[in-house]
Amino acid sequence: MSAHDVLTGLPNRALFPHRLEQSLLDLAPRRKRAVVALIDLDRFKEVNDTYGHAAGDELLRSAAGRMNALIKPVDTLARVGGDEFALILADLDREDDVYLRICNSIIEGLSKPFQLDTIDATIRIGCSIGVALVEDTTYTIKEIMRRADVALYEAKISGRGRLVEYDSSLDHRVEARENLKSDLRLLLEGGAEDTGENGYSLAAKTGRLEVYYQGVHRADGSGLLSGAEALVRWHHPTLGLLSPDKFIPIAEETGLILRLGERVLRNAAQDAASWPVELSLAVNVSPSQIRHRGFGSHVMSILSETGLPPSRLELELTEAALFDIDEEGQATLGLLRSHGIRIALDDFGTGFSSLSHLIQFNIDRIKIDRSFVNLLGTKAEGAAIVSAILELSRTLGKATTAEGVETQGQRDFLVAAGCSDLQGYLLSRPLPLSDFLEKLGFQDAPDRATNAAGDRTARFCQVV
Ligand code: C2E
Ligand code: CA
Ligand code: CA
Repeated sequence: MSAHDVLTGLPNRALFPHRLEQSLLDLAPRRKRAVVALIDLDRFKEVNDTYGHAAGDELLRSAAGRMNALIKPVDTLARVGGDEFALILADLDREDDVYLRICNSIIEGLSKPFQLDTIDATIRIGCSIGVALVEDTTYTIKEIMRRADVALYEAKISGRGRLVEYDSSLDHRVEARENLKSDLRLLLEGGAEDTGENGYSLAAKTGRLEVYYQGVHRADGSGLLSGAEALVRWHHPTLGLLSPDKFIPIAEETGLILRLGERVLRNAAQDAASWPVELSLAVNVSPSQIRHRGFGSHVMSILSETGLPPSRLELELTEAALFDIDEEGQATLGLLRSHGIRIALDDFGTGFSSLSHLIQFNIDRIKIDRSFVNLLGTKAEGAAIVSAILELSRTLGKATTAEGVETQGQRDFLVAAGCSDLQGYLLSRPLPLSDFLEKLGFQDAPDRATNAAGDRTARFCQVV
């Protein structure tokens, strides 16, 4: 019992290192190699959160069964974490790449639908695999596992459903990520808002965050601006201008997203409060922000501090944010809505159970993911999917924004199909505040821009 996982019957994380050690001993005299693969189920957490633990348990058992059927009795498959498995393929010839075939068949096997009796439903998951080749028996178990883990991490962040084999270049990426992590921590925890000597030296070391604004335009033919989305950027001292995709995942991983999110919201609200027109302001909110107890009160106090009316604020949440939201989180969203703040569902259609979320959370707006908008004009399904989403939104009384509108053809289709708003490079790119204000017509009134005193200019150029 102490060496095996009760749920799946597989060796557990305590037994696994012993098996690996044995494989290494067997390997030594025979000039062969072994392979360690770490297998992580994609989207397992979503299934567990959505359908409950009984379904999660059944899924783990079936997944283990499928993997077991693909390996030989001499191989070891262990369950080493909640939804993480480890495989040892021992005794392989050096030239033999059978491990690739086995790992790929596991990826394929786990991407097929699972029929779960506990919930009488069919679900789809998938898996990511990190592989470490063991050719040198002097490696320690720790080093082998580290390598497999580094490869697994890479597989997960590079899109999931993939196999990545360890090589030493991945260590540089890990190092670069670690450096970015500590820079981000310094930037967010080091009080970069401080002015004076400290502030300057800190900014030189960590750079600064800046909020860009991308216009959201009415899809009524007028093309007028209806709002703007706040999109954060990081001016890094050595890496240059970093897009959020490079650092938001790190901020989420480290919990720094709470501070980052608050800074972006405060800065954006401050900016928007002084815009010459009362556009609505959309701000992205990460899943962990919603789960954080103080979220609702932080939002409300930032609004009262900055004077931005709640009715001008729209919070963009992804389906991932709504997944394991608890009653308190739901109540927070309800409270924010009762003050007039609107909630938009971002990247609609890319998540797991979109329809139930629309109903459950009183979403005000659906943002059609740019992957669907992209299909318009290239694939027939594009028009069908976008029309269906727009039809659904209309029936449910939700506003819609199409993201990533890049061509006139896409725009015409979306306008004709009754989309409420459009966002994309065709209409405007994300811009620094001063350029965005110029678009709003500030360039026609240079007096206003300068006369409003140094303090306004200073505010526009402010370090977030
Ligand atoms: P998103 O919320 O889906 O934001 C839209 C992204 O699409 C932006 O990328 C924008 O520059 C890009 N985009 C807009 N129009 C077009 C177009 O026509 N074509 C193409 N190809 N792309 C277009 P960006 O600024 O790099 O942001 C990436 C993501 O980072 C955002 O995706 C959002 O999820 C996240 N993000 C940005 N700022 C914040 C923030 O302050 N907090 C949080 N939590 N996430 C943020
Ligand atoms: Ca967004
Ligand atoms: Ca989006």
